[in-house]
Amino acid sequence: MIPSKKQTITLIPGDGVGPEITKATCQIIEAAGAAIEWEVCEAGSVIFKKGLSTGVPKETIDSIQRNRVALKGPLETPVGYGEKSANVTLRKLFETYGNIRPVKEMPGVITPYLGRGIDLVIVRENIEDLYAGIEHSQTPNVAQCLKLISRQGCEKIARLAFEFAKSENRKKVHCATKANIMKLTEGLLKRTFEEVAKDYPDIESHHIIVDNCAHQLVKKPEQFDVIVMTNMNGDILSDLSSALVGGLGFAPSGNIGDHCAIFEAVHGSAPKYAGQNLINPTAMILSAVMMLRHIGQFDAAEKVETAVQKTLAKGILTRDAAGDKPFVSTTDFTQAIIQSLQETVPNTHRHKPLDLSKVYFKDVSVKERDVVGVDIFIETYDHPNDIGACLNALVKDTLWQLKLLSCRGLAVYPNVDISCLKLIDHIRCRFTLSHAFLENVDELILSLLAVVGTKYPWMHVEKLQTFDDIEAFSKAHGG
Ligand code: NAD
Repeated sequence: MIPSKKQTITLIPGDGVGPEITKATCQIIEAAGAAIEWEVCEAGSVIFKKGLSTGVPKETIDSIQRNRVALKGPLETPVGYGEKSANVTLRKLFETYGNIRPVKEMPGVITPYLGRGIDLVIVRENIEDLYAGIEHSQTPNVAQCLKLISRQGCEKIARLAFEFAKSENRKKVHCATKANIMKLTEGLLKRTFEEVAKDYPDIESHHIIVDNCAHQLVKKPEQFDVIVMTNMNGDILSDLSSALVGGLGFAPSGNIGDHCAIFEAVHGSAPKYAGQNLINPTAMILSAVMMLRHIGQFDAAEKVETAVQKTLAKGILTRDAAGDKPFVSTTDFTQAIIQSLQETVPNTHRHKPLDLSKVYFKDVSVKERDVVGVDIFIETYDHPNDIGACLNALVKDTLWQLKLLSCRGLAVYPNVDISCLKLIDHIRCRFTLSHAFLENVDELILSLLAVVGTKYPWMHVEKLQTFDDIEAFSKAHGG
């Protein structure tokens, strides 16, 4: 059923091949009878060239805010002009915390997996994790990147995965993490996922270690339905997965935020193909299919998706997918899809509106918290036994005790044979207090830092806390 009132959607044609693929997409959407009015806006290179360093002008931001849904062509990251990526500006402005990447086998697109029935969706957390981009070179030889994972972020992405599964009548959600190693960060997603799963008893839920997930995705991808992951794992495995069904030309995506959703092809502006009428518009068309479902225009979405499948099944392919076979231009491919649209009118679909109203934060509150020690990271190549002796002498008449030294997470003092190790100039010194403190603990830490600093340069300090008597820090290997 076509809604009587047209919905206004912000349309950003984008850079490079963007205008060609958005034009093709709009023609198909219109031919499918979708009730949409486009509000065309600028972003990317044209804006950078006007001197706006964010790449996204106010009119475009206002339009997305007003319409709450956008279809976006690829935006090139400036080299030599402008400063930022317009894509990152949009992601940050609208806090699109969830990236949804469907991976579906397309008939006629030859891959080693053809016929296996791959039809999975990767739900990737999009704003936390290592991609917060908080990095420091702590010594001239050692760099650090902070992996920040929040309970709220995990709940939102886990709920998005289950709600998306529900909206597509899918039966299974996997959560892929590295919780076996990173128990506090990756483990937080695992634990939150298991808690959220209780609200969805009709959907199977499983945890899988992410490296096994990568292996299984290559070996037996058809076993997966929805997979939710933290940012970096999702980044890597979603690219791997799109290669299973034909690559960038066939990879659509949706970026979901609390206030707005932005749909776009996964690929970039492919500048060398711009204006050549050769590019494959399928990824953009399928992103528009996701958009149509997001706004509840299911019949139009179904029609477009079916027409794309029929066209490909007839062997009508653009150059990237044709291999040695003849191929058609972007415009002929578009016309073939419009032709296929007229051949059949599918009347069933499995989709329901995505309901994100249940996303809520459950802040964990603790009754009691203590500081039981501190990790001080120092820069030195001294032998651990010499560091240990020096630090023990420094804290002799204080409340602090040197518990251990570790290098890259491996205990190297006390009583450790390091003859097989090649240490780096980055040593963690773990000090504990003779009893837990909360008051005055900052003063104690500052005076400890002052004495340690007389002998070794330190570059990083971390309090060791307990929340309701549970240690809120990891142990060193062998410590
Ligand atoms: P790209 O995805 O633009 O292109 C890489 C190659 O993949 C192309 O040369 C082409 O061979 C192939 N390809 C990509 N899309 C295709 C399609 N639809 N049909 C057929 N072949 C296709 O990646 P890039 O060259 O690394 O990046 C070019 C620009 O795009 C850069 O400025 C980059 O920052 C930007 N970019 C933007 C986005 C986005 O807007 N979301 C995403 C990625 C890259």
